[in-house]
Amino acid sequence: MQEESNHFEANRMNEYLRVYDYGEYLNYFDYILMRNIFIKKDAYDLSEIDSILAKYQFKRTNEDNQNILSAIKQHSERCAIDTLWIIPTFSCNHLCTYCHIMHNSAINRDIHISEENLHNGIDSFIKKAGTRQKYVAFYGGEPLLCFNLIRRAIDYIKNLDNKTEINIFTNGSMINDEIAQYIFENSIFIVISIDGPSELHDKARKMRNGESSHAAAIKGIEILKRHGCSFGVNAVLSKAISADIVETIDFLIDLEPKEIGCNSLHFFFDGENPLEVTAKESAEAFIVLFSHAREKGIMLDHLLNRTRLNLFAHFIFRYVKLKDCPACGNRIVLTPDGKMGYCEGFSSSGYDYFRIADIETPPAISSYQKWKKLSPFLNPGCNDCECIGLCGGNCPYDAFVRKKVLTVMDDFRCEQCRIMVEWINRELYEALRMKIEGNSIYLVKDEDRLVLLGDSYESRKNQIWYCSGYDVLSIDSRNLEKCLNTVSTRNEV
Ligand code: SF4
Ligand code: SF4
Ligand code: SF4
Repeated sequence: MQEESNHFEANRMNEYLRVYDYGEYLNYFDYILMRNIFIKKDAYDLSEIDSILAKYQFKRTNEDNQNILSAIKQHSERCAIDTLWIIPTFSCNHLCTYCHIMHNSAINRDIHISEENLHNGIDSFIKKAGTRQKYVAFYGGEPLLCFNLIRRAIDYIKNLDNKTEINIFTNGSMINDEIAQYIFENSIFIVISIDGPSELHDKARKMRNGESSHAAAIKGIEILKRHGCSFGVNAVLSKAISADIVETIDFLIDLEPKEIGCNSLHFFFDGENPLEVTAKESAEAFIVLFSHAREKGIMLDHLLNRTRLNLFAHFIFRYVKLKDCPACGNRIVLTPDGKMGYCEGFSSSGYDYFRIADIETPPAISSYQKWKKLSPFLNPGCNDCECIGLCGGNCPYDAFVRKKVLTVMDDFRCEQCRIMVEWINRELYEALRMKIEGNSIYLVKDEDRLVLLGDSYESRKNQIWYCSGYDVLSIDSRNLEKCLNTVSTRNEV
C-alpha cells in the first residue's frame, strides 16, 4: 500500500503522467504524447523507475512540457471558420423524446429561413472561410421540409465556390425519388438518424402524431440506395438503446451505410433529458460498441468519427484532441430567424447568436474568440486529468446546461471519459500481455497499439474516411515529440 502511494506520488512530479497498477506491472500512460510503458513492479526500486521514466522521456523537464504546451496552443489558435451549418427550419414532422432542439425552442418553430437571410448568411460564411476548403451542412428540425429552399441554397453556394462539400442531416422520412436523384447528381453526403430496429428506434423517435417513424426512415434509405447515393446513419445513445447497443449497431451495419455514428444525447436547458443514461452506462455502452465492431471486422475510424468513440481512435493512433467539437472555432450556424452563432445546441434558444448584419461587430467577435478558446489545454482545472489529450474538453453546451458556465468541466462527460480512458489502457495491457510478460520494461511501439483494432485495421482501405472539420481539432503527438529538446540531459539506466 505504501509502495503504491509512492508510485502515485512519483506520478505527480510530471503533470502529464498517469500510472495504473495492474498487480505485477505498472502502466505509465503519458497522456500528452499518448505513449505507454509497462514496468515490472518488483524489478526496480522507485529511484530506478524515475530514471527509466526520464530515459524514455515519460518524465520530462518543465522546459520540455512548456514547449509541448506552447505547440499545442499554437495549433489550437490556428483554427478558423470553414464549416457552415444551415438550419432552414426548426419545424419537424417528428417529436423525438430526447430532442433538445424541440425541447429548448424559444422561437416560432414553423418559420422557414427567408431567401434574403439565406443569401446574407452564406455570403458572410464565404467571406469568413476565404480560400479554405468549405463544408456546408443542412440540419434541423427536419431540413427536407424545405427541400426547394435547400436546392436554391446549394445552387447559390456552388456559384460562389463549387468545391464546397455538402451534407444533409435528416430523419429520412421526406426522402422521395426526386430528392434522392438530386442528392446523387450533386454528390451530397446524407446522414439519416435511426436508432436500430423498430422496437428500439420507436421508443424515442416518434412522428408528431405519436406513430412509429421507423418504416419512413427505412423507406428513405431504400430510395437512396436505389439511386446510388452515398449515405451514413446515426444513432443517439439514450436509455432507449443503451442496453441493446449491439442490436442497434448490427441493424445499422446491415443497412450498408458508408458511415455509422452514435452520438450522446444532449441535456435540456430546464432539467433532465428523460432518456438520459448515467455516465457509467454510456461509457460502458460505447465500450461494448467499440469491442463489438472490432469483432465484426468493422474499421473503427469509420465508426468513430463524430462519436465519443473517437477518444479510442486518438489513443490508438496517438493524436491529441484539442477540442470536442467544430463549434469551438471552425463552424458557424445560421438559424431560420436569420441569426448566426457557433453551437447548434444553443440555436433554438438564441444564446450567443447574433443578427447576420452584426456578426462582424465586437460582441459577436468576442463570442467567437470565447468559443475558439474552449479547449481543456486552456482550462487550468484540466491540467491534472489523464483525459486532457483525449476528451477535447467535452461538449460546452452540455457543461453550460449543467453548470451555467461554458468553460467548466461537465462532471457527467468527465466521468464518462475517465472510465473510457481507464478501460482502453487496461485493454492495451491485456492485448499485449504475451509481449509484456517476461520483460521488466516494455515500451509500447506505435504498431503495438494497432492490436486494439483487431482484424478491422486491414479493412480500412476499403472504406471511405469521411470527415468535415473534425481533423483540424487534433494534432499528431509525434509532431509534439519534436518539442523535446533536452534529450541529451537524460541519464542512461
Ligand atoms: S427528427 Fe431530429 S429534429 Fe426532429 S424531433 Fe427528432 S431529433 Fe428532433
Ligand atoms: S458544443 Fe455540443 S451542442 Fe454545441 S455543436 Fe458542439 S456537440 Fe453540439
Ligand atoms: S475529462 Fe473533464 S477534467 Fe478531464 S480534461 Fe476533459 S474536461 Fe478536463
